[in-house]
Parts: sequence; structure tokens; C-alpha cells
Amino acid sequence: MVRHVYDFQDGDRTMAALLGGKGANLAEMTRLGLPVPPGFTVTTDACRAFLADGEEPEGLSAEISRHLSVLESAGGRRLGQPDDPLLVSVRSGARFSMPGMMDTVLDIGLNDASVHGLAKVSGDARFAWDSYRRLVQMYGSTVMGVDQAFFDEALTLFKEARGAPDDVHLDASDLAWLVDTYKTVIRNETGYDFPQSPAEQLRHAVLAVFRSWNAERARLYRRREHIPDDLGTAVTVQRMVFGNLGPDSGSGVAFTRDPATGRPGLYGDYLPDAQGEDVVAGIRDTVPLAELARIAPRCHTQLHDHAVTLERHYRDLCDIEFTVEHGTLWLLQTRIGKRTAEATFAIAAELVGEGLITAAEGLRRVHGEQLGRLMFPRFDTERAGAELAHGLPASPGAASGAAVFDSAEAVRRADAGEAVVLVREETSPDDLPGMVAARAVLTSRGGRTSHAAVVARGMGRVCVCGAQDITVDTARRRLTARDGTLVEEGTVISVDGSTGSVYAGEVPLVASATMRYLESGVQSDSVVSAVARALEHADSVRRLEVRANADTPQDAARARRFGAQGIGLCRTEHMFLGERRPLVERMILARTDADRAHALDALLAPQRDDFTAVLEAMDGLPVTIRLLDPPLHEFLPDRTHEVNPMLGLRGVRLGLVVPGLVAMQVRAVAEAVVARTRAGGDPRAEIMVPLVSTVEELRLTREEVERVLAEVTEETGVDIHCPVGTMIELPRAALTAARIATEAEFFSFGTNDLTQTTWGFSRDDVEAEFFSAYLDKGVLAASPFETLDREGVGRLVRIAVDEGRAARPGLRTGVCGEHGGDPESIRFFHAAGLDYVSCSPYRVPVARLEAGRAAL
Ligand code: PEP
Ligand code: MG
Repeated sequence: MVRHVYDFQDGDRTMAALLGGKGANLAEMTRLGLPVPPGFTVTTDACRAFLADGEEPEGLSAEISRHLSVLESAGGRRLGQPDDPLLVSVRSGARFSMPGMMDTVLDIGLNDASVHGLAKVSGDARFAWDSYRRLVQMYGSTVMGVDQAFFDEALTLFKEARGAPDDVHLDASDLAWLVDTYKTVIRNETGYDFPQSPAEQLRHAVLAVFRSWNAERARLYRRREHIPDDLGTAVTVQRMVFGNLGPDSGSGVAFTRDPATGRPGLYGDYLPDAQGEDVVAGIRDTVPLAELARIAPRCHTQLHDHAVTLERHYRDLCDIEFTVEHGTLWLLQTRIGKRTAEATFAIAAELVGEGLITAAEGLRRVHGEQLGRLMFPRFDTERAGAELAHGLPASPGAASGAAVFDSAEAVRRADAGEAVVLVREETSPDDLPGMVAARAVLTSRGGRTSHAAVVARGMGRVCVCGAQDITVDTARRRLTARDGTLVEEGTVISVDGSTGSVYAGEVPLVASATMRYLESGVQSDSVVSAVARALEHADSVRRLEVRANADTPQDAARARRFGAQGIGLCRTEHMFLGERRPLVERMILARTDADRAHALDALLAPQRDDFTAVLEAMDGLPVTIRLLDPPLHEFLPDRTHEVNPMLGLRGVRLGLVVPGLVAMQVRAVAEAVVARTRAGGDPRAEIMVPLVSTVEELRLTREEVERVLAEVTEETGVDIHCPVGTMIELPRAALTAARIATEAEFFSFGTNDLTQTTWGFSRDDVEAEFFSAYLDKGVLAASPFETLDREGVGRLVRIAVDEGRAARPGLRTGVCGEHGGDPESIRFFHAAGLDYVSCSPYRVPVARLEAGRAAL
């Protein structure tokens, strides 16, 4: 029979797919001899089976009972034993960390009898009743589905009646009364009683955690983080240890390095006399970990030593959840810690420097998207007004937007196109949609390890948390700044997640240090040096060349500074917009040859000058100039009547039916080459024919191209060599690549159109129309316009590369659709054997990095 449960001693870190990240790492820590409370893990297989069949897999209950017995005999106490109960926690743990998105139930095993036993053995009746209250509440909401608000309301009413400002002022009898009230709430809401049987509590808690895999917020988080929906979660069942047993107890979160900057050294938050949940919820303000050294020096030293052990063992930054119970340190969880983009680069470089990982491993650990984030601008603080508030710089970057005070409003306004900053006292996992929608998140409570901070860092959202000098009034939808300024909903504020500052109004932006480095080569800080080293390493190992899509000399020059090795796509229609548009209209609508010739003549000189300037900016490097390819509705919106212009008179078709158009463009290229050659330059123009579907189109166009090139060579005496190639952007072109290659010196995959025509999705309409529904329903895992669809479009690319090269050995191949700058897609293009990718200038550094990573 399939095994569904593993004791911590039986697993290790390699088993994350089966035991989830938490279960696998608890097993690993147990193997390392670290102080982990004992327990066991129910597998993701069991969860998947449960979610598929709607019932527990056969034998699961019995297996859990067996493992529970082992736990009970090891500790000499039974679950819920009336005079001295063993209590367990039941926690989710997916393969990829989803902080706070799924359910947890603590203190399983308490009931009307064992609460007295716990009171007696702990010598602390208040603690026992508080634990019981927490269990009834957590179980009621997560397992029995009672709206959390009912419990909150009961608590608030009770505190008001008792005149107690917070929970700490409630004594054991108050809490006992609350337990009764909560039980009544559960009965009224569900028709069932809170179960007194510990075994039943455990069983239902496990199933509830399974079910929480499909909770709305968990699904949303997965979609955002591209975590597959079918993995399921494991469930760890672990002996409870208590951080809320008085001043010599507490809970905290530690990082082996600073997750915001990457600086070495133990870093984190501690909350005396509290359970772990209180730390991440940001309900009470934590103290820095250094305080632990004062309160419990021995625990601090041990924690430090364990952190070193873990970082050396995992060879990476780890985060650790720990609890101190009456002066004894316990580790409850570890994982490779989430970190900012800055820290990612800094840590990779440091670990390479320390010899813990190789340079290749260092490169593997940094990601193009993170580099993209480092290129975002920062606030120009010189031009910022007075600080409204200052909090903890929890997730770096700079963003301005209208302050909004709940998640739904954030979503509503963002959907309407407004930039918003989500302001909360603290965030809970239910705020996730608002965090996704907002440009930045600001909270008045909670530490750098609070849920808001962890989630924001993970998704690269700007975040300042624990800004204690503001008062957030969610009901009235406003905040009061430390100087008394009122900020009403809708007022624009600016949040600097790198410094913790919050300003009124919109603060102007300046280039980031990474951007300055890319522009000028100045390495101003250690993060920038780490980026530089990663890029150098990537350049030394990558096989793919990186070119840029650029149509202006300015873009070309920038792309070159960013490391582009040429232009892979110069879209000539962009040179026909603006004041030149009437000339194009005249050319297309001309009734007589003379009219047309006149219009073409007028376009020749400006085109030649454009090409000359671009060739100069890219001197010595290839510049692929594409012949005109606008869908006609872009030029003649009022006069063309094609029902589907994207499939109409565009690309090569236009060149073949408008006499003189190709000749004019080729002449402009040729004359630009001549001008640059005469100026002592090294122009390397290539001519590319768009939207070809049959070799005949290419053959005819190519004849015309070569005729004009020969003509200009003849006229000027300058030998002009321009390779002529084609875009492969229609399925028929890909499928007949062998024939097309006979006329093409290079292929460049136009994956925008190839995706459009392979899927039959209009690239202009589809993302707005039904993609979000498709993504919700799981029909698509990602937009095929963002990340190349390997199965379909990718297959066409492979066919075209292989059959094209077979027909013409040495055929050069590249890609110039948007996918050329997408990390996932770049890996595919590397694997498919392309020679280069071409992307927008700002993506060039990202593509260099990813091309290097693909080659590892
Ligand atoms: C493409 O189709 O991928 C392409 C690069 O051409 P355009 O986006 O200009 O149609
Ligand atoms: Mg195209």
C-alpha cells in the first residue's frame, strides 16, 4: 500500500515534492541533530488523492494513528491526555513556500478535560485557557468554516464589557468564558459542537489543511508565483512547544543574513511571551533579535550557532522560525529565505567569495526578473517634501499612488487604471488581491518578518511596514501622519521601500544605481558590483548572442551601452509615423504611377537618414532592417475596410502589391550603407522580409532587393553586401522552412505573430478579453504572448530551425518577438539552438543574464 506518512527521522531535504518544503526541512534539521520538536508529515500524495476523490485515501487515518502512537510513547503522554495532554500543531507545507496562504491549526488535543490538565502541569491556568480559546477559534474558522469575524466580534464585545484594553488583560476565567462563547458561536453557525475527541480534531484539521490548498487566496498566490495548481500540500503534525509561557519564553523569526540587503549576520525579530503566529501576523510589535541576546543569552548563542550550521549546510540564506519555551530553544521551521532582488545578487556574490558555492551556482541563483527590478528608478529625495512617516524598509523600490485602505478598493481602482498604495494597520493573507493590485504596501504595525513584508518581498512589491508614527483609520479611510497631517483615501503618497520613508504627493524619480552602472559602468555599491560580476560571468558562458529591437539612434546607442551585439529588429514602420504619415497615405492611395513615385521619392531621403544614424550608432554590428509591415488600419484608419487587418494587406504582401515600395526602402538602406562606408564606418545592414508564408513571396521580393542593391552598387561604386533573410511568423512559413531557407540567409522568429496565428488569439484583443478567465480556469498557465508556448509555437520554431538548417547549413537564426526578453523563453531558444535573441533595449541586460543561465 502507498505510504502516506513519514516521521521526521525518515525524511530529508530532497523529499520536498512529497513532504513539502516544511516537512522536508524539518526532517533535514532532525537529521542534523538540531533541536526540533518531534513529529511527522502527511504527504502531498495524500492531499492530491483527497482533493481528487473528495475523501481520505484508504488507510490514511490508521497510518496517522500509528505515527501518533510513536509520538505519544516517545513523550510519555497521549494526545489530549486529561491530566497532562500532548498537544500538536497541524500545519500546511507545500513544495514551494506560500507564506500564510494556507491553514494551520495549533493546540490540537485540548478539550474541556485536558485544559485543566494543561493548567495544572504548566502551573498557569491563564495560559491553558488562552490556548484552548485559540484552538476553538482556529478550529472553528478553518475546519468548521465559521466566519472569523464572529469570533473577533465576541472578543471585542467581551473586552469592552470588561474594560480590558487588550488580550493580556483577560484572566483565566475571562478566557474560560470566551471559550464557552466561541463554542456557542460554532454551534449556532454550523449546527455542530466543537469536537471533544482529540483524534477527531486531528483528523479534521489535517483534512482542512488539505482543503486550504484550494482557498481563493492560495490560488491567487500560485497564479502570481507560477506555482502549478496540482501539487497539493503536505501537512506536518508536530508536538507543540509554547512561547507564551511567560517572560522566559517567546517566539521569533531569524534570517541567517539580512534579507533586504544581503549583509551577513543573524537578523530577525523576537516577541517575548508569544506564539509564532503573533510574530508573523504583526499583531504586536516585535523587538530586534539583538534583544534576545540580552533576555536569554544562551538561546541567542545557540540560535546563532544553528544559523551558521544551517547556512553552511544549505549554502544559502535560510530563515528560521523558533520558539523559546522556558529558556529552551526549539526550531520549528527553516527554509531558503525569500529575499529582495538586491540581496539575491549580493548574497550570491558573497557566497561565491566565501567559496561556499561556485560561480556557476552563483549565476544560477540570480534571475533576470530581479535584475529588471534593480533597473527601476528610485525617488529623487532631494526633490521630496517632508517625510509623512518612517517605517521599516521591508521591500525595496519606489512607488507613488493614491492611498487606499482596503484590498477591495485597491483592486477596484487598479482595475480602473489608477496607481494605488495599499495602507493597512497590518496585512493578513486575505489582503493578497490588494497587494497584487497595489504599487506599494504601507503598514503601521509589524516587523520585517511580518506577513506583509514576506509576501511583498516575494512578489517584488515595494513595502514599508511597521510605520508606527502613523495612525491608520480603516473605518474612516484615512491615516494621520506623525505631524498630524490627515491623508484621506485617494490622496497620492510615495513609498520608498529601500529607506522606509513615506512622502506626501508624487516624488520625482531618478535612475537606480544599477541603471547608472549599465549606462556608465560606474560600480557605486556592493549590489552593483555583484550585478556586474553576474553579468560578466553570464557573458563568458552564454552561447546566445543578444541583440536589441530598436528603430532610433538613441535606442540603438542605449542598447549598445547595455551590451547589445547588434539590432535584431529595426521596425521601419515606426519611422513612418508622426509627420511622415501623410506621405505614406499618399503612397498607398496613389491613383497614378507618377503620384506614387512622387510620394515614394519624398520618403526616400528621411528613410536614408534614419538608417544612416542607426547604422552609425551600431557601427561594426549587425542591424537587421525589416521592410514595412504595418497592418493597414494603423496608417489608414478611416479608409481601409479589412475586417481583419492583422491577417490582411501587411508585410511582404504590401511590398508585392504597392509598386516601388520595396525598391524605395532598399535604396534607402543601400544609400545609408554607402554614406556610412564613405564616412569610414563599418555598416552591417541586413534586410528582412516580414510575414512570409510561401517561398514564392520571398523569391520575388528578394529579386527586387538584389536588383536595387546592384543598382546602387553600380551607381556609387561601393560594394554593398546585405544579407537578405525572412521573418518566420506564420505557421506555414515554419512548416515549409526547408523551401524558404533556399531563399533566406537568416531566419528571425516573429513570435508575436507566430503565437497569434498558431493559437488563433488576436494579439491586440486577447489579453483584455478572456485571458484572465482562462488563467483562472487553468486553461493557460501563463499568457503565451509573454512566455513562449513550447508545445505548440515552440514546436514550430524547432521544426523551422532544424529543417531550415538542413536545407541551408549555416543558416543564422534568431528571435525578435517579445519573447526574446522573457527569461523562460530564452531558456527555450537556447535549447532550440538559436543563434541570438533580440529584445527591447531595457531587456538587454536581462537577456544577457538569462542567456548565461541557460547555458549552465
Ligand atoms: C513578431 O511578430 O513577433 C514581430 C517581431 O513583429 P511585429 O511585432 O512587428 O509584428
Ligand atoms: Mg510580426
